[in-house]
Amino acid sequence: MPAEPAIRIDNLMKRYAAPKGAKGEDAEGKLALKGVSFDVPEGSIFGLLGPNGAGKSTLINILAGLVNKTGGSAEIWGFDIDEHRRNASRAIGIVPQEIVFDPFFTPFEVLENQGGFYGIPARDRRSEELLEAVRLADKRNAYARTLSGGMKRRLLVAKAMVHSPPILVLDEPTAGVDVELRRQLWELVTQMNREGVTVVLTTHYLEEAEELCDEIAIINHGELIAHKPTADLINMAREKIVAVTLADDITAAPAHEAFSKVELAGARGVEVTYNKDKLSAGQVLAILQEQGMTVEDVTTREADLEDVFVQLTGTGS
Ligand code: ADP
Ligand code: MG
Repeated sequence: MPAEPAIRIDNLMKRYAAPKGAKGEDAEGKLALKGVSFDVPEGSIFGLLGPNGAGKSTLINILAGLVNKTGGSAEIWGFDIDEHRRNASRAIGIVPQEIVFDPFFTPFEVLENQGGFYGIPARDRRSEELLEAVRLADKRNAYARTLSGGMKRRLLVAKAMVHSPPILVLDEPTAGVDVELRRQLWELVTQMNREGVTVVLTTHYLEEAEELCDEIAIINHGELIAHKPTADLINMAREKIVAVTLADDITAAPAHEAFSKVELAGARGVEVTYNKDKLSAGQVLAILQEQGMTVEDVTTREADLEDVFVQLTGTGS
């Protein structure tokens, strides 16, 4: 029997109210989600990927109880978000995109206050343990305003985990964040997942989704356009590239009906793009040799998520 999904989203719709006095098309309000359905498997790192304005935050904010949906349904940990709002909220911890703290609270106080908000008795709170987990134990008593951007993000993750939810959701955790901090956050997320937490993250960075996520749902203009295990999604791209260095300078570019693109790179470099359903890398090399070229060095490049994304959305990332 398959396990219950951590999150189930069924035909979710959101139309934002139109601004007062809006005319024509605007008078109907923005349709930000047009009936989106997918399940998030328990124990996964799940990526919700899409360009800016796709509807990612709208979806997350509906789960968080911050935005009212206009259609469809959602369950968190088996709890319908309308019928069992309290239980649904207790099963999820959300890290918002914006950093907001009272600058005069210390990390320890931020976590204690959040524990109080959830009605967790002082003796049962996990503030110390969580500060350790996000490597802020030495900043326990520092004012929040003195923390670096990276430390603040980590404190937000700890804050989202105060009530020990089985699901952690991060909305664009690494937007505008430097490489080092991005690495730190990825590590933290991976570690929490290893400890059994189901993680959902929204991102518009393909690289992030590709590296971290087991499964990816792509939304564009409020519609789900793909949902697959990451490896299957990448496999959807049919194009592959063979880059060769030839022994001699190129006199004429190689051409063949089975090649989809040929590009020259310097005096002795050739990159051949081909459809992997029609050719293999070996056949590409054989064709080059038939045309009188001696291949000295070869590398191949697999398609990545970016290729798939461009293919599906018809846009650049
Ligand atoms: P994403 O998080 O993927 O960038 P959002 O969910 O924030 O996308 O936005 C989806 C669409 O809904 C966008 O066109 C955005 O302008 C619109 N939108 C978001 N919030 C509101 C709001 N409060 N009122 C009206 N329109 C909104
Ligand atoms: Mg957003």
